[in-house]
Amino acid sequence: MTPTTPEQALAELHAGNQRFVTGVPRHPNQDAGHRAAVADGQHPFAVVVGCSDSRLAAEIIFDRGLGDLFVVRTAGHTTGPEVLGSVEYAVTVLGTPLVLVLGHDSCGAVQAAREAVTTGRAPGGHLGALVDAVVPSLRRAAAEGVEEINGIVDIHIAQTVEALLANSSVLAAAVAAGRCAVVGMSYRLSAGEARTVATVPAGAAAAPPPAQVERAAPTTVGG
Ligand SMILES: [Zn+2]
Repeated sequence: MTPTTPEQALAELHAGNQRFVTGVPRHPNQDAGHRAAVADGQHPFAVVVGCSDSRLAAEIIFDRGLGDLFVVRTAGHTTGPEVLGSVEYAVTVLGTPLVLVLGHDSCGAVQAAREAVTTGRAPGGHLGALVDAVVPSLRRAAAEGVEEINGIVDIHIAQTVEALLANSSVLAAAVAAGRCAVVGMSYRLSAGEARTVATVPAGAAAAPPPAQVERAAPTTVGG
């Protein structure tokens, strides 16, 4: 059965990630029969706003298949207008009950942004936009005294959760109405485990202040 509530969707993601971590994936919904079955319409149970990192393929690490996940990926899971529009499409048109922000340890985009800020040298081309999008997270990390890269990554994931809600009144309204939840997870490249670092439950007030996002204490993560 396809999950229809935020709780069911989250449980399904946890179960799939656990199968992936332990090396017993089922590769559901990847056969020809299912391909044909979903050709007429999609009902993905989660929107994944993830980093583009080549090691972070959502369908693989959550052990899902065709029609399950609506995936938007940018380097450093930045959230410009096209990303917000994609999330809103899934939440309103497709009725997707969960939005997941998926970051990971040793994120190159976060590292590049930190280097640009530290050295004062802005990268060329459109990379500057990427750095600009990560800077608020770097400021917040500095204010909280977090210097280790994976602690900064966790903050950037929580910051992205908040940015989605602050910049999309459509998403905030869906959350406030109890139709959707937003969760942030940090993935460990080596272990394959996705750990929850921020949660905005269905029914939360629109555009919650940062205090309403529960961020786990930064942990030291290798890799
Ligand atoms: Zn990354």
